[in-house]
Amino acid sequence: MTAPAPGLTDAFWAAASRRELVRPVCRACGRNFFTPQVACPTCLSEDWTYEHSAGRGRVYSATVVHKPPSPGFAVPFRLGIVDLDEGWSILTEFVDGPDGRLPAIDTPVQVAWIERDGRTLPAFTEVLP
Ligand SMILES: [Zn+2]
Repeated sequence: MTAPAPGLTDAFWAAASRRELVRPVCRACGRNFFTPQVACPTCLSEDWTYEHSAGRGRVYSATVVHKPPSPGFAVPFRLGIVDLDEGWSILTEFVDGPDGRLPAIDTPVQVAWIERDGRTLPAFTEVLP
């Protein structure tokens, strides 16, 4: 993948536009982290790179947002944190799923992609048995 500088999140959004999920991985200590930051939050090294993610993980938390965070937001929507199998976490929206209900904690999920305001965004949906 490409180096993080100069645009810290450029490579993330470029990958997302191809529906590929990536995450920062520190070359010094091997830690996965998210969101992208100038320095690794564990060892402060600035030597990190984006690497591909399989986009699979489990639900850490989930909630329903009823009040729009800004005008133009369609509510309600399902928001939560997913712990990815590679050892990083992402704040994300839950889409699809059985009956549109909120996924239970620890439910296996996988990345799904949504189009919003001309941008491709990662979202997550339950892995069907
Ligand atoms: Zn590090």
